[in-house]
Amino acid sequence: MDLTTGKTLWTMTYSNPPTYPELSQDEECDVAVLGAGEAGAICSWYLSKAGFHCMVVDKRQVGRGSTQANTGLVQFMNDMPLHKLIEIHGREKAVRFYRLCQQAVSDLSDLVLQIPYPTEYAAKDSLYFASSSKYVKCLEEEYRCLIAEKFPVEFLSRVEIETRFPFSKPAALWTGGDAQINPYRLTHSIFQHLESRGTRIFENTEIVNLKIERGSPVLYSSQGHRIRCKYVIFASGYETEERWQTSGTKLQTTYTIATEPVTDFSGWLNRCLIWETKRPYLYLRTTADNRILVGGLDENTIRNPERDKVLLEKVTQLKSNLGQLFPEYTQIGVACQWSGVFATSKDGMPFIGRHPQLQNCFYALGYGGNGTVYYTMAGKILTQLLMDGSHPDEDLFDARRFQLLYQLAEKIGLH
Ligand SMILES: Cc1cc2nc3c(=O)[nH]c(=O)nc-3n(C[C@H](O)[C@H](O)[C@H](O)COP(=O)(O)OP(=O)(O)OC[C@H]3O[C@@H](n4cnc5c(N)ncnc54)[C@H](O)[C@@H]3O)c2cc1C
Repeated sequence: MDLTTGKTLWTMTYSNPPTYPELSQDEECDVAVLGAGEAGAICSWYLSKAGFHCMVVDKRQVGRGSTQANTGLVQFMNDMPLHKLIEIHGREKAVRFYRLCQQAVSDLSDLVLQIPYPTEYAAKDSLYFASSSKYVKCLEEEYRCLIAEKFPVEFLSRVEIETRFPFSKPAALWTGGDAQINPYRLTHSIFQHLESRGTRIFENTEIVNLKIERGSPVLYSSQGHRIRCKYVIFASGYETEERWQTSGTKLQTTYTIATEPVTDFSGWLNRCLIWETKRPYLYLRTTADNRILVGGLDENTIRNPERDKVLLEKVTQLKSNLGQLFPEYTQIGVACQWSGVFATSKDGMPFIGRHPQLQNCFYALGYGGNGTVYYTMAGKILTQLLMDGSHPDEDLFDARRFQLLYQLAEKIGLH
C-alpha cells in the first residue's frame, strides 16, 4: 500500500536519521514487534521498561510508514466527540475512554522526559470551533458532557473568540492539557534509546508469514529468516488490513501542507492547536521551527493516481483555509505537501488487545485521528496484558467487537 505521497516535513527536516540492519539470521526474543512506526516505538518502550526483551522488524525504514505523515496533534478529545460516543457506547464506556485518552496525553509527557533525544514535544491548549452556526447546539452539548465529567474545557462565545483571534466563529471550546510532538523524531528517538539498551531493530525486512508452532508465534521474513517469540505485537499500521484483516474499519486519504517559517505568531493565541466541528475537519498547528501545518480535506479514496492528481488542488484549498483564518499568512510560501492513508474504526475506538485468531498475538492499531494517544494507551494496556493476562479496559478495544458472534455473546453475558 502507498501509505504516503509527496514530501513530509518531518523527513525533510531530519534527513539523516539512524539506520538499522536487515534481519540476516534466525532470532529469538520475548516480544516481536511487527512495525517500526510510532506504535511499534511506544509499545516497545513500555514493554522494554517492564523487562521484556523486544525485537522490532519493519519492511521499510524506521518511521517511514504513516508515522512520517502524522502531523503530531496530541489531544484528549477525539474525532468522535464525547456526546456522540455516549450515544453509541453509553456514558460509562464513553467517559472511561475519554479518561484513558486524557491519561495517555499525560503519560506521553512523562515518556518524552525519559528519552535523551529530541521529540519536539510541547504542552498545548486546543481551540475547537463551530464551523458554522448549525454546529453550535452540538458544541453546547459537548461542553455539557465534558464539564459534567470535569474535563478541562471552557465555552467561548463569538465575542470571546474575536477578542483572542483574528477570525470570527459562532462559538468554540477551549480545552487544556493537550500537546504537540514531532512523531517521526519521537519514533527515532525512542528506538535510538532502546537500541542502546539492548532492543534489536531490523529495517527492510518484510514479514510474509506468521505461524503458531508448539504454542509460540514464529514470524517468517521474505528472506527466509525466522523470529521465534513468546508474543507478537501487530504495530503494522493500516497495512494490517491487507494481510491480517481487522473488521469495522474505513480507509481514507488526508492532505497536509507545511509552510515556510513564520516570524510573527502574535495573532495566534498560545500557538494553540486549532480544529473544527465539521467532518472532515480542518486542523492547524505550529511547529518547533515556526512553520504552520494545515491538514484535512479527507477523501474516500486511497488509490494513488487519484491522490496524486488532487494533491496540488488540495494545497491551494488548504492555503486558502489558512488565509481565511489568519489573513496575515496569505502570502506565506508552502515548503512541502503530502497526502497519507488514514484509517478509522466504525465506533471511533482503536483496536488494542488480543488478536481474534492467533494465540499470543496482540493488536496495537490506533485507527482514528488520535493515533499517538492510542499507542500510548496501547503500550500500557498490552504490557499489563502480557504480564498479568488481563487488563480492566481490554473490553473497550477488543478487535472482535464488530463480529456478530462476539456481539451475541456480550448480549447474553458470556464475557
Ligand atoms: C496525514 C496524516 C496526519 C495524521 N495526523 C495525526 C495527528 O495529528 N495526531 C495523531 O495522533 N495521529 C495522526 N495521524 C494518524 C496515525 O495514528 C499516524 O499516522 C501514526 O503515526 C501511524 O503509526 P503506526 O505505527 O500505526 O503506523 P506506521 O507508521 O505505518 O507503522 C507501521 C509499520 O509497519 C510496517 N509493516 C507493515 N506490514 C509489515 C510487514 N508485513 N512486514 C514488516 N513490516 C511491516 C510498515 O512498513 C510501517 O512502517 C495522522 C495520519 C496521517 C496519514
